[in-house]
Amino acid sequence: MFGYRDSLERPVSIERYAEDFLPLCDVANKIEAIADPYEAARVAVRIADRYLKKGQLHPEMGVFSTDSYDDGVVGHHKVRGLERTVANALEKPRNINFTCCTPRCENAAIKKSHVIQRNKILSTIVDKSNAVFQTKVHPDEDLEFLQKVGWKNASTFPGFCESCESTQFSEAEQKNAAVTRETVSKLIWRAICFTRYRRAIELQERAKIVSEPKAYDVAKNLEEPLIPVSSALIMKTRIAAFRTLDRWIESFERGHCGLAERFRYLVLELEYAPFVGAGAIPVHFDISRNLLSSPRKFSSSDNYMSFTSLCSGEKQYVVFGYDKSHRISSKLIEQLRRLDPHLISAYLPQLVFANSDTVYLSPTWWETEADEVDKHIVLHSFFMNFAQMVFPWWGPLKGVNVVNVFQL
Ligand SMILES: [Zn+2]
Repeated sequence: MFGYRDSLERPVSIERYAEDFLPLCDVANKIEAIADPYEAARVAVRIADRYLKKGQLHPEMGVFSTDSYDDGVVGHHKVRGLERTVANALEKPRNINFTCCTPRCENAAIKKSHVIQRNKILSTIVDKSNAVFQTKVHPDEDLEFLQKVGWKNASTFPGFCESCESTQFSEAEQKNAAVTRETVSKLIWRAICFTRYRRAIELQERAKIVSEPKAYDVAKNLEEPLIPVSSALIMKTRIAAFRTLDRWIESFERGHCGLAERFRYLVLELEYAPFVGAGAIPVHFDISRNLLSSPRKFSSSDNYMSFTSLCSGEKQYVVFGYDKSHRISSKLIEQLRRLDPHLISAYLPQLVFANSDTVYLSPTWWETEADEVDKHIVLHSFFMNFAQMVFPWWGPLKGVNVVNVFQL
């Protein structure tokens, strides 16, 4: 299932979550006819916050564990059909015109802006057919969590217009891009925009499930009333994520697009990495697995950091971007910075795979170089509830070696 899995802390009763259903239905009904997903998401944030203020929406969030359902419900093809519309909407270009993400640029965005450096970094992991593995759980596939995608389709979204594509990212897209605040801030900006897009799309698709009759027919058919309620609860987590990312981008852009002093970048230089990615990830645990911010809090906003892969010459990098005035993400980054590079190498998969739906893996590495432990680390990292550093003793993935850590 997409979205948060609620197996942390004390369990909250189903009744308590179900009380959120009515206000969330109202949110869904009010945004379903809005064509622009960003506008729909912003309206959803406003309405949900109003309910929260009036005490009519719980300040916690969570979703039903798959154990809450009778056997066979989650895997039922009708339930999968509902999930499939969400999964497909995230990956397929939409039939509406988006405006460029650059502030004050009114041009139409192209359908496929690449979020990861176009030729350079993806080409380090493609196989002979120019394909990469994408980590995601698609409802059409039973157990295969790795999906092969052509790299030209990997990690694209309707982000920027033709002109901004070439002007905004020309330096960062160069073969020997200098690793400076100017280049990494642009890539981090693009990564947050990308994740914001995905959260807005999912929010809108979930709203359709909640407001249209289909899910209720499936619920009646399978005698499982929780189906639409469950989608509403996931929608609530998407409202929270969208709210945070939208505000972050706004402050990032006001802060000279990430060049203002409070925006910091932790750069890890690697000899090689069999995965690349870009996106924004919530931070809930510190290195010692102490809880820094509860995944249940609907309103927390300082617990996100962003990451991007980057290539310059023969060197590969993973960059984490964060706002220094944000207490929670800063705390984790500070801990990372003080860590031995070997341990950082061991923690990297958990950091980027957990909670990120936008990491790409080398098929050649997976099929010919990775051993059982490597595969276990990747799978475990992907399926864990929120990024947690749980197995340093297994060491890094084969070939992954952080050789230098510095801050920009
Ligand atoms: Zn533009």
